[in-house]
Amino acid sequence: MKQAAWILGDQLSLKNSALQQLNSQRDVVIMIESLEHARELNHHKAKLLLCFSAMRHFRDELRANGYQVCYEELDNGKNFLQALSDAVKTHRIERLLVMSPHEQATVKFAESLSEKLNIEVSLTPNSMFLTDRDEFVKKHKGKKHLIMEHYYREMRKKLNVLMENGKPVGGEWNYDKENRQTAKAFAQSKLKLPPIWKPEKDAIDREVEALVEKFFPNNIGTTEHFHLPTKRIDAERFLDDFIKHRLAHFGDFEDTMLQNELVMFHSVISPLINIGLLDPMQCVEKAVVAYYDGCAPLNSVEGFVRQIIGWREFIYGCYWVKMAQGDYHEENYFNHQRPLPDFYWTGETKMNCLSKAIQKVLKFGYTHHIERLMVLGNFALLAGVQPKHINQWFWEFYLDAYDWVVTPNVIGMSQFADGGFVATKPYCSGAAYIEKMSDYCKSCAYSPKEKTGERACPFNYLYWDFLMRNEAKLRPNNRIAMIYGTLDKMSNEQKQAIRESAETFLSNLKPNTYYA
Ligand SMILES: Cc1cc2nc3c(=O)[nH]c(=O)nc-3n(C[C@H](O)[C@H](O)[C@H](O)COP(=O)(O)OP(=O)(O)OC[C@H]3O[C@@H](n4cnc5c(N)ncnc54)[C@H](O)[C@@H]3O)c2cc1C
Ligand code: SF4
Repeated sequence: MKQAAWILGDQLSLKNSALQQLNSQRDVVIMIESLEHARELNHHKAKLLLCFSAMRHFRDELRANGYQVCYEELDNGKNFLQALSDAVKTHRIERLLVMSPHEQATVKFAESLSEKLNIEVSLTPNSMFLTDRDEFVKKHKGKKHLIMEHYYREMRKKLNVLMENGKPVGGEWNYDKENRQTAKAFAQSKLKLPPIWKPEKDAIDREVEALVEKFFPNNIGTTEHFHLPTKRIDAERFLDDFIKHRLAHFGDFEDTMLQNELVMFHSVISPLINIGLLDPMQCVEKAVVAYYDGCAPLNSVEGFVRQIIGWREFIYGCYWVKMAQGDYHEENYFNHQRPLPDFYWTGETKMNCLSKAIQKVLKFGYTHHIERLMVLGNFALLAGVQPKHINQWFWEFYLDAYDWVVTPNVIGMSQFADGGFVATKPYCSGAAYIEKMSDYCKSCAYSPKEKTGERACPFNYLYWDFLMRNEAKLRPNNRIAMIYGTLDKMSNEQKQAIRESAETFLSNLKPNTYYA
């Protein structure tokens, strides 16, 4: 029986289970660049460049390995169904294999294909994660809250990562108390940030770059500053560069933000791992080897390993639990209705941290985790922005954003719109946190110390206003009970001044015109 495997743009892994079932002498690989699909959202231009160029490089990798690849380019203008239908007829395909997609909408589409194409269609297991999502959903169905740390420890044991004689290496599961160094500590350390190895754009990259300008001229962002790998061999070198030059300080400065630095000691592997150019276990194994070789300390290696086999896998599982229960995108625990401010598209705000972080995203389609969570997400939460709109914003603006990962991170972790399914408490703060962890406040028009009034940092009064507005929902949460203790000590005049400052500030925000 002649088979074909349809490989999606975020499934560019040689471990792809549909690919592995093919007979390369007889069968065909189908890959499709769909203009229609790419236009469903206003994706950052650099993300489009990464995705289409990586697909073309993967096509060439497969051809070099002896596969026959039927490849539809963007210019052909076919949508997935037209392209699949043509490929099935041209190659007389009797059975189509698709590795079960990472997110629900594409799974539903793949499941509908048998009827539409009138051939046998099989979904093969997803081999790009370490988690069996059906098992995860079965185990956690009906639960109100999940705890990442529990899942992480299970994964450490199951995968035998940083374990010795059944115990965690070094005696602790988690070394975060050694991490979280401040911007001041970074300055005092006199450490130099290492340069990052960046591949030059090759002919395929340049060709795709021109196509992005042709077909998506008005999309957000730019491809000008794009220097990410688009082929596996470069992705592996990029990972090695992180392991060799940045992993050692990853833990210490994981939460530190500098206004003129994009990456600090982070890996920037999410755009690559999410499309299959890197494999999660490959990243973990390299970090563990660096620890045993004495090249990186345990707090950094454990911290990095936790991001991959803990957070990343947990987030994937949470997405599937929530999507099995309804539409996760629509959750809105606090009933927040404010439109996302227009400055999220321009960076034009006097709030320096927001302005600089947005400029980074516009240029690179990337900021590290803390800018996402404690600057961009924090502001949207405190200002009471509609969760599905800030979710769409992250989805469109970031190179590594796909439904399965962006939605639980934004709706769940950042906006607490799922009422605490992913996070045990809202991740929110006033200016004190940003001042301590970054150098943003030094060049800001606002004062991080002032609590109310014109000069006061808006994060300060918005924080308390948010806590007052949502007191009934938040006070019972033990993890933030102490904060309400501080609020209780404030006078009525202080509370009133907070409300007034918040109201004045929020009423002056210009709403965006992009999201209805
Ligand atoms: C509001 C918000 C939105 C986010 N949106 C995305 C997104 O669209 N795509 C995405 O991949 N990550 C997202 N994250 C998670 C995290 O911020 C990014 O994975 C990380 O910043 C990517 O940069 P890095 O590769 O340098 O990560 P590093 O700090 O070097 O971490 C290593 C790897 O761990 C994994 N990881 C760490 N935390 C998470 C997490 N919470 N969820 C999933 N993987 C994680 C990533 O694969 C990452 O590459 C989001 C987080 C927040 C708070
Ligand atoms: S003062 Fe407030 S707005 Fe300005 S950089 Fe600091 S935290 Fe951001």
